Amino acid sequence: MQTMKLIFLGPPGAGKGTISKMITERLGIPQISTGDMFRAAIKEKTALGLKVQAILAAGALVPDELTIAIVKERLSWPDVRQSYILDGFPRTIAQADALAEFSELDAAVDFEVKDDLILFRLTGRRVCTSCGAIYHRVTKPPKVEGICDLCGGNLYIRSDDQEETVKARLKAYHDETEPLIGYYQKRGLLLTIDGSPDAETVYNTFISEIGRFLKK
Ligand code: ADP
Ligand code: ADP
Ligand code: ZN
Repeated sequence: MQTMKLIFLGPPGAGKGTISKMITERLGIPQISTGDMFRAAIKEKTALGLKVQAILAAGALVPDELTIAIVKERLSWPDVRQSYILDGFPRTIAQADALAEFSELDAAVDFEVKDDLILFRLTGRRVCTSCGAIYHRVTKPPKVEGICDLCGGNLYIRSDDQEETVKARLKAYHDETEPLIGYYQKRGLLLTIDGSPDAETVYNTFISEIGRFLKK
């Protein structure tokens, strides 16, 4: 497989985590999720976790300096020298400018999903407390309710997936993240994918389209 350095754009609930995990499983490319890193820090009550807890709870964005610093550090690890998927970073123009200084991307993949479908997806999302696998009450139910198919861990509902917080997150997306679509379009890096069909279809579209962005 070729090497690939990708960012995943798209609103909350577009399926970024789901498609990233399929790519990690099937192609072995590491996923870096800033959301997962913040949630881990909150759970462990680290200094970072204490700083960002209220921000995530409100559905707002963590300040750029903090977010950029953790991504920059993570990208210095040897496992992501050749390939990575940045899931949920950058989310602002300032983050995109910073990223351009320390890494060179092959493509920015934008998963397009309309706001009404997002609300359905996020309010039905269930996540494994133990391995992070992502389920949905309707579109991807686990075999046994509340239990992860992969590891037997308990599933939970993210506290920021309640309707009021989802609305705040969607507003942050439209105000601060959506401008990145034009930013990457201008640089010839944008791959737009319809994120509304089932995950297997979205994955297959990604595989058939990404090749033209990769180095031979
Ligand atoms: P989703 O993909 O459902 O939007 P994430 O897990 O990617 O959720 O992000 C959860 C929360 O973590 C965001 O609402 C925000 O508070 C914070 N966060 C994640 N990534 C970033 C980022 N790049 N910049 C600022 N805040 C972020
Ligand atoms: P994001 O990382 O962009 O916030 P997720 O991958 O966590 O999005 O997906 C949000 C919810 O939607 C999850 O419950 C997931 O199971 C479900 N989901 C993701 N992709 C699809 C899809 N293509 N079709 C139906 N449901 C999906
Ligand atoms: Zn699990």
